[in-house]
This record gives sequence, C-alpha cells and structure tokens, in this order.
Amino acid sequence: MQIEKIYQQLGISPEVYAFGKETEASLRERFARLDEIAEFNQMKVLLAMQKNQVSEDCFGSSSGYGYGDHGRDTLEKVYADVFHTEAALVRPLIACGTHALAIALFGNLRPGEELLAPAGKPYDTLEEVIGIRPSRGSLAEYGVSYRQVDLLADGSFDYENIRRAITPKTKLAAIQRSKGYQTRPSFSVEQIGQLIAFIKDIKPDIICMVDNCYGEFVETIEPGDVGADMVVGSLIKNPGGGLAPIGGYIAGTSDCVENASYRMTCPGLGAEVGASLGVNRSFYQGLFLAPMVTKGALKGAIFAANVYERLGFAVVPDGSEERADIIQAVTLGSREALVAFCKGIQAAAPVDSHVVPEPWDMPGYDSQVIMAAGAFVQGSSIELSADGPCREPYAVYFQGGLTYEHARFGIMKSLQGLVDEGIVKL
Ligand SMILES: *Cc1c(COP(=O)(O)O)cnc(C)c1O
Repeated sequence: MQIEKIYQQLGISPEVYAFGKETEASLRERFARLDEIAEFNQMKVLLAMQKNQVSEDCFGSSSGYGYGDHGRDTLEKVYADVFHTEAALVRPLIACGTHALAIALFGNLRPGEELLAPAGKPYDTLEEVIGIRPSRGSLAEYGVSYRQVDLLADGSFDYENIRRAITPKTKLAAIQRSKGYQTRPSFSVEQIGQLIAFIKDIKPDIICMVDNCYGEFVETIEPGDVGADMVVGSLIKNPGGGLAPIGGYIAGTSDCVENASYRMTCPGLGAEVGASLGVNRSFYQGLFLAPMVTKGALKGAIFAANVYERLGFAVVPDGSEERADIIQAVTLGSREALVAFCKGIQAAAPVDSHVVPEPWDMPGYDSQVIMAAGAFVQGSSIELSADGPCREPYAVYFQGGLTYEHARFGIMKSLQGLVDEGIVKL
C-alpha cells in the first residue's frame, strides 16, 4: 500500500508501523473528546478576536519606543479575554517562559516578603531566579525569602503544611500546572482552583500565580477562571500555535500586570513602551491556530503513552488518564534508551533531521540534558521535541508536534530507534 511505502522511505519498518496503527485504533473515543475541547477553545479565541475588533491594521509593525502600537495593545486585550483576566502583557520583549515568570515574580515581590511554592519544587530554571540555587541577581539577593511545601506521596497537595507555611510575610504563591521535569502528575485547572481557594481563605491578599506553560487550551477553562491572579506562559509553547517566533505572556489582574510591566521595561514606562517589530501577525495567527495545534500535540502525547505503556514502560500520565498538559513522560531506565529515543525524535524532524543529538551541560539545569528538536523556531517545544535530564530514572519528556500526523510519526521513529538498538522487541 502507498502509505506503508512512504513510511518505509522514512525509515519505519512494517512491524513498527503495524504496532502504531494497532495502538491508534484503540484511541478513537479519546480523540473525539479532544476534538470537542478544541472546538470550544477555537470558538473562545474567535470570540475574543471578534469582540476586540481585530483588523488588518493590527498586523502592522512598530519600532523604537513602540508608542501607540494598536496591534500590540489589542492583542493584549484578546489574551485577557481568552484567559478571563483583567489585563495582559504579550510581548516579543519577553524572551522565554522563564523570563515571563521572572518578570511576574520580581514585579510583584518586595524585600522582606516571602514567595511560597505550595505544590513542590518549581521548574528547574526558576531555581536560579528564586535563589534556591545561589545565583547573581536572584530574588534571594533582593531579600525575598522562599518557602516550599512538597506534595504528598500520592501527588496531592499537603494542605496541613501549606496552612503552617503561610505567615504574615507570605506575598505570592507560585503554582506550576505542568509537571515539568518531574514525574509527579500535572494539575488540572480544577485542582489548581481548589488550592487557590484554600490559600485565599487563609490569607486573601496572597497573589496566586500559575505557571501555565504547556497547559494552555488543554482544557476548556484556564487558571484565570478559578481565581489565579496571574497566569504566565511562553509563546513558543501552546499559545503561540507554532507561529510566534519568540515571546511570553502574563495575564492577570490589572494591578499584578501593571507591577509586572515595570519589571518588563522599567518603573514609569511599564507597558507603554516596547516595539512589536513585525511579530503581531504571527502572534495573532498563532493564537488563532493554538487550540488546534495543542490538540494535535495532545493526541501525539496520548499516542506515545499508549505505545510505550503497551511495551511495558512506566508512563506519566498513563495511557487512559485525563490530561492537564501536552507533556508525556516515559521512564526509559537507561542512558542508552534515552539517547536512542531522542535520536529517533530528531530524525523525524522537518528541520535538522540529519543532526544527531548528544547530552550537554545546558545553562539553568543541574545535570546534563539531551534534547531533540528540529524546529522552525529554535527551542520551540510546541513543535515536536523531546528532552530529558541524564539522571535516574532516565525519563524522557516528549511534547509537541504542530500536527498530530507528525507527532505520531515522531513516536514511531523513536520506537524504531529503540528496536534498532535492540532495547525493545516487538
Ligand atoms: C518551559 C517551561 C518553563 C520555562 O520556559 P522557557 O521558555 O524554557 O524559559 C517554565 N515552566 C514550565 C512548567 C515549563 O514547561
């Protein structure tokens, strides 16, 4: 058959192809549910664009100070409507997700105040922002203290110790929706809402910030719908729809967003300055496509979970669980398997498929990391990508795929790699 032939040309053996097809056949109902979520989110984005009268003149460029950039200001209103918050910053000045989170934190915390992580250790790159690992310019250097309450053994919130950890100093609680480089479960928006309600009940003026990276459009509600004061993420993940070439967003209350704006630029200038340098159209068009792109990535993640679960690997989430983000963790158990998996993902890419990934010492991470990505936008992890820290238990984190078809192919290619290395037998 034609289709098998083209897969063979792409290096997929008939056995791997058949294994993939069989796995996919069991997923029809799951996928139908994802179609419904994406349909809702597509309409939500459309509604926000229509309400704010997005028009051709929003796609113009600004330079220099960027005063009066109508497209930029309108896009921020669209984001605020999509995330159901009062205001938003959506800027190419925000270099990445970590930068967006750092701006939100530095903008809203003052010396002598305390940052609380009520749901365990935050994402690796935030350790240096906070000063958990000593680093120049961290919040710790500016006299902002940090307190962490780990999750209970079953992955749930430790309400008892969260209550004890809240003191008059506690100013901001940082909650991460996605698991990041951990094997804990990711949190649903509803779970995050329960945690926020608990915290606000104890001390209503605590700012609840949600690191929303990888979570956007996975559900029909977002953290802003359940009381988050700030929702923060990266445009080279879900909400950029694969088209944003750079950027981050902070959506939240007018107060929190204004505070953040003075860190994004500087006190006095805030959100008034910041040229959009021609990225507006990609930001809008990417947001418009984001619900569908996220759906493709989610289907890919579910396909991956089911393929590797059938082969006996530990996968988080498991093959049938509800999803809170687009990340799929697969515990591969050895360095060789981790490397073979990532080489397969790299070989599946539309860009740089001929490049062979190797573990390296990546800034911001405390162990070697191997990354596979052949993306149109460097580091874009809404595009097909996989990465994993080279340490026990050698878990790989797989995410993205601008289309489901491509994500599925990537997984077949990773499996082919493990089969070819003799690590997996079909
Ligand atoms: C990706 C990610 C970040 C950091 O984003 P970068 O764009 O890599 O700086 C922060 N938190 C979570 C949960 C993430 O997935």
